[in-house]
Amino acid sequence: MAKTLCDWSRKKRLKKWDKYLRRVLPAHFVCRKCGRAGSDRKYLCRPESVTPPSSS
Ligand SMILES: [Zn+2]
Repeated sequence: MAKTLCDWSRKKRLKKWDKYLRRVLPAHFVCRKCGRAGSDRKYLCRPESVTPPSSS
C-alpha cells in the first residue's frame, strides 16, 4: 500500500502530479538506487539525506 515514489509509473505521476510534487518538494532525500528525490525518506526505496549546495 505504501508505495514509494520510486514505484510510481510515469502514467501515475502525470495523473497525480499535484500529489507527486507534494511528496517531492522540498526534497531532503535522494534515492541512491533510482536517483529520485523526495521530501521524506519513506517516499524512496533507498533514501539518502541530502542538503542543497549552498553556493549563493
Ligand atoms: Zn528508489
